[in-house]
Amino acid sequence: MRTTIERRDLGPRDVLIEISYAGICHSDIHTVRGEWGAVPYPLTVGHEIVGHVTEVGADVTRHAVGDRVGVGCMVNSCRECANCRAGQEQYCLQGNVGTYASVDRDGTVTQGGYSTHVVVDEDFVLRVPHAIPHEAVAPLLCAGITTYSPLAHWKAGPGTKVAVVGMGGLGHMAVKIAVAMGAEVTVLSQTLGKKDDGLRFGAEDYQATSDPATFEALANTFDLIINTVSASIDVGAYLGLLRLDGTMVNVGAPPEPLPVRVFSLFNNRRSFAGSSIGGIAETQRMLEFCAEHGIAPEVEVVDADAVNDAYERVLSSDVRYRFVIDIDSLR
Ligand code: NAP
Ligand code: ZN
Ligand code: ZN
Repeated sequence: MRTTIERRDLGPRDVLIEISYAGICHSDIHTVRGEWGAVPYPLTVGHEIVGHVTEVGADVTRHAVGDRVGVGCMVNSCRECANCRAGQEQYCLQGNVGTYASVDRDGTVTQGGYSTHVVVDEDFVLRVPHAIPHEAVAPLLCAGITTYSPLAHWKAGPGTKVAVVGMGGLGHMAVKIAVAMGAEVTVLSQTLGKKDDGLRFGAEDYQATSDPATFEALANTFDLIINTVSASIDVGAYLGLLRLDGTMVNVGAPPEPLPVRVFSLFNNRRSFAGSSIGGIAETQRMLEFCAEHGIAPEVEVVDADAVNDAYERVLSSDVRYRFVIDIDSLR
């Protein structure tokens, strides 16, 4: 449904962005379907945003009119807590201000990127390197940073074996980024249907999780598993794939708890962890990293009228590999 939303007047540190493309993240779908809790309707979602600056507040120094910029999952944080001071604004102890469905500092509910314009504090606006094709930038602002951050934190690189579970929006970026970091990557997908793509993205191996033999063949293999699945999985079966001191990082966000038997952790001194997006400075580094390594998301551009159909295709794992809304179709 189309509607009119109000953006706040530009404050001295605000940037007005004319949006070109907005990515469709599975988190948008969890949110609008009420899977994560009550929805503050009316709500516009979207937290993968790219566009151009069309106006800046009087005190803005980091961005200028005409710049190509991006906005991800958060638009503000307290800036004073220990986590914010450490550059980990996503873990702000006061709670970061999400790009949508959060209470903004003026008391209104934030509204996301499936819209023509957005007003954002300059510190939460990213510079976009020239090398990244315009329609492919937006998914980096969530899918890109959400996979880059744990891969960097748990030191994926030469000599490490990384498994990526689920090859959708986040998963395909996890594969490309881990490969660019120098890791040896295996994709664990429900079927072998996307194997050719996985190998094209640089994975060395691609196995079907529907086949029990996969779990036997790959037991005690990986240093790091990045789980991007949007639904519950049998965590214990995947923990069995970790070698000594291996870590399984959960970035997928199913609404239900994921049960873990501690005995699956005792073997090989395994860790089960979580990770949420990434800090602003780290997001900037991720953009530079992708530009430098020639990595970009695979996108299918759709008009605003096709968003409901795109949601259905994401829900049936029929996304190759991120839908991006052409915001011109809203104008
Ligand atoms: P997506 O494009 O739908 O990808 C999820 C993939 O998981 C699917 O492509 C599919 O891969 C696999 N999958 C789906 N249902 C499954 C099931 N029942 N059993 C096993 N595998 C299944 O979604 P996304 O946009 O990448 O987001 C993935 C998850 O990450 C969502 O829960 C989202 O909310 C969350 N997320 C978290 C953060 C964070 O900060 N932690 C940020 C963004 C998104 P195959 O077809 O290859 O099996
Ligand atoms: Zn997202
Ligand atoms: Zn804070």
